[in-house]
Amino acid sequence: MEENKSRGLSFWEEALETLPRHDLESLQLKRLRETVRSALSVAFYKEKFNCAAIDPAKIASIDGIRHFPFTTKEDMRRLFPYGLLAVPLKDCVRVHASSGTTGSSVAVFHTQKDIDTWSNLVARCLYGVGVRESDIFQNMAGYGLFTGGLGFHYGAQEVRALTIPSSAGNSKRQVQLMVDFGTTVGHIMPSYAIYLMKVFKDMGIDPKRDTKLRILFLGAEPHSEKTRKRIETFYGVDAYNSYGLSEMNGPGVSFECHLKDGLHIWEDNYIVEIIDPEGDEPVPVGEVGELVYTMLQKEAMPLIRYRSQDLASFIQEPCKCGRTHCRISRIQGRVDDMITWKGVNIFPLQIENVLMEIREVQETYLVVLETENDEDRMTVQVEVEESFLKGGKSDELHARIVNSLQAELLAKPEVRLVPPCTIPISGVGKAKRVIDKRSS
Ligand code: ADP
Ligand code: ZN
Repeated sequence: MEENKSRGLSFWEEALETLPRHDLESLQLKRLRETVRSALSVAFYKEKFNCAAIDPAKIASIDGIRHFPFTTKEDMRRLFPYGLLAVPLKDCVRVHASSGTTGSSVAVFHTQKDIDTWSNLVARCLYGVGVRESDIFQNMAGYGLFTGGLGFHYGAQEVRALTIPSSAGNSKRQVQLMVDFGTTVGHIMPSYAIYLMKVFKDMGIDPKRDTKLRILFLGAEPHSEKTRKRIETFYGVDAYNSYGLSEMNGPGVSFECHLKDGLHIWEDNYIVEIIDPEGDEPVPVGEVGELVYTMLQKEAMPLIRYRSQDLASFIQEPCKCGRTHCRISRIQGRVDDMITWKGVNIFPLQIENVLMEIREVQETYLVVLETENDEDRMTVQVEVEESFLKGGKSDELHARIVNSLQAELLAKPEVRLVPPCTIPISGVGKAKRVIDKRSS
């Protein structure tokens, strides 16, 4: 640690990553009190805390947070843009906004200190899996209000990697940049990584043979373990799941360590709870529920008990990497990603899990829900290689996909096999996996 500090890597403190739970919770408690105190300068929180008779000085333990009121996306939309600011606007140096995947996007403000804290969090994620100043880091996430661009950019610069702000899109150039600059590490959305596979093939470039890529960070979208493996195999890299949301800065909230066994959350900066998405009680450890965050150390906009609508479960056992910060499962989806069809609840990731197990299936799929003659129909469009689209091979593959989906979903969807590149993916922005055209 001393050696790293002397080299000026202020974000990396091994002692913080492995802080005993008791000390970690004491640190959280101290920061929670400070957070509540500063949140009281926001009319919205002042009113809520007064109603709940909460005095920051009297918060005795982290568990006390369960009595705090929630903050929701609706609150953020209602108070858009400046209603949740805890500092004068002149102290803010940047604003970001969520992508607006589930409705109008929300604005999140940062002071300079907030930007520094955020950059450190991202830097810790990068450094923790071996990114160093000798690396060449290509950031293939969109720059702008989306946090994946600037969030990763500043984190990579903090590690002192040479950072290429290539952004998403412009795909042939993207590949060429990778070859020309000898990119070793990249950040990319999983659907774009899949899209780029075809661009690589069309250009006759094999990332394993013709690039120096060794690590990819996959973020901003749900993706299955099998999709990760396919990306790792094609690019010849270690791919790490990186999760975050704009309301909690963006990337840098939760990340995989080198063991790739669940995602750690930086608990010195966040208190995380997992609650029943339909209620407000915690779910038993190991059960899937809604992630609720309280941000510690945030100056501009300290959100408390923010209901993220993202679904995951806690992993109880401590990680073998030695970090004491808690772990969560892969994000299963968002509360409102859930499809209710023929009385069963289905998440797109369940469909992806099944499809990616089938070797002949390519990586892109689309679920279409329609009403026909008063009946709800679900069709799963699946891209497969041309050679599997004809004759007996096609019938056998089709039957296998239908059976596998039925076994997982407990209902039988229709399946349509389509040639590669039939389902539109722009490569820019989050992939749309479900189109719901049902009348109700
Ligand atoms: P929006 O909520 O409008 O998409 P953001 O750009 O802030 O706005 O995206 C954050 C959301 O993206 C998260 O709340 C989560 O639903 C999803 N997300 C981000 N990273 C991941 C990941 N690694 N796995 C699954 N979902 C992710
Ligand atoms: Zn770990």
